[in-house]
Amino acid sequence: MNIPIKTQASVPSHVLAGKVALVTGSTSGIGLGIARALAAAGADIVLNGLGMASEIGRTREQIAAEFGVKTSYSPADMTSPKSIAEMIAATIAESGRLDILINNAGIQHVAPLDQFPAEKWDQILAINLSSAFHTTRLALPAMRRNGFGRIVNVASAHGLVGSPFKSAYVAAKHGIVGLTKVTALETAEDGITCNAICPGYVYTPLVEAQIDGQATAHGISRDQVIRDVLLAQQPNKRFATVEELGALTVFLATDAAASITGIALPVDGGWTAH
Ligand code: NAD
Repeated sequence: MNIPIKTQASVPSHVLAGKVALVTGSTSGIGLGIARALAAAGADIVLNGLGMASEIGRTREQIAAEFGVKTSYSPADMTSPKSIAEMIAATIAESGRLDILINNAGIQHVAPLDQFPAEKWDQILAINLSSAFHTTRLALPAMRRNGFGRIVNVASAHGLVGSPFKSAYVAAKHGIVGLTKVTALETAEDGITCNAICPGYVYTPLVEAQIDGQATAHGISRDQVIRDVLLAQQPNKRFATVEELGALTVFLATDAAASITGIALPVDGGWTAH
C-alpha cells in the first residue's frame, strides 16, 4: 500500500522579512554564503569583514538588488573590542534592532605547538573566540528588549575534535562551543537561541590557502592534498558548500527552530562520527 507523503517547502521564502542580521566575516567564504541565504529569506543584512571597499560595495549592491533587502557594512576589526562595540551600536542605532547575530569571522594558522608564534595565538583567540563574546554581550540587551534573538556561532569540527598543528584554532573553536552553551543557558527564557555549527572542510579562501602549503610540505599534488590530507577524516570525501551552511543557518533563525538551543551541530560528512 502506498502511504501518501505530504510534502512541504522546508523554509517558506521571506520567512525572515523584517529581521536584521549581522554576519561577522561576511566579505568572503562561509560568512558571505550565510549572508546571502539570510537575505534570500528576507532579512536585512549588515556585512562585516576585510577587503577592498569597491568589492565590498559591489557585494552589498548585488545582495540588495538580488533579494530586495537593505544592506549595510561595518569595517569593524574583530581583534578590537572597541571597534566591535561601535559596530553593534551603529547597527542598533540605524536599524532599531538586531535579531540575528552570526559569529563567523575566523582565521587559521598551522604550525607545531613549540613553533607556534605567540602573536598568532593571540590573534586567533581574539578573532575566532573573543569577538563572539563581545558581539554577544553587546547584542543581548537589544534581543531581550524584542523578546527574540538568534545567535549562530560558526565553530568547526575542530570545536569537537583536535588535529595536530592547529593548537590556537582548535582551542578557540572548543572555546566557542563552550560559549554557545553558556549563552543558550542564560537566554533560554528570553526567546533567544544560541547554537554552534561545526563544519568539516568547506571549500573557501581559508581552505584554498592551506592546499599549496600542504602540497609542498608533503611533496604531493593538490588533488592528493584534497583527498588524502584535507578530506582524510571526512568520510563522504566532499567539501560541504557555503549554500548548505546558509540553508542550515536560515533554519536555525526561524521559529521552527525555537527549541533548538545550546547545540554544536556537526556538518562534516561524518568526520566526528569516527
Ligand atoms: P574566509 O577566509 O573565506 O573568510 C573569513 C572572513 O573573516 C572574511 O570575511 C575575512 O575578511 C574575515 N576576517 C578575518 N579577519 C578579520 C578581522 N580581524 N576582522 C573582521 N573580519 C575578519 O574563511 P571561511 O572558510 O569562510 O571561514 C569562515 C568561518 O568558518 C571561520 O570561523 C572558520 O574557522 C570557519 N570554518 C571554516 C571551515 C572551512 O573549511 N572553510 C571549516 C570549519 C569552520
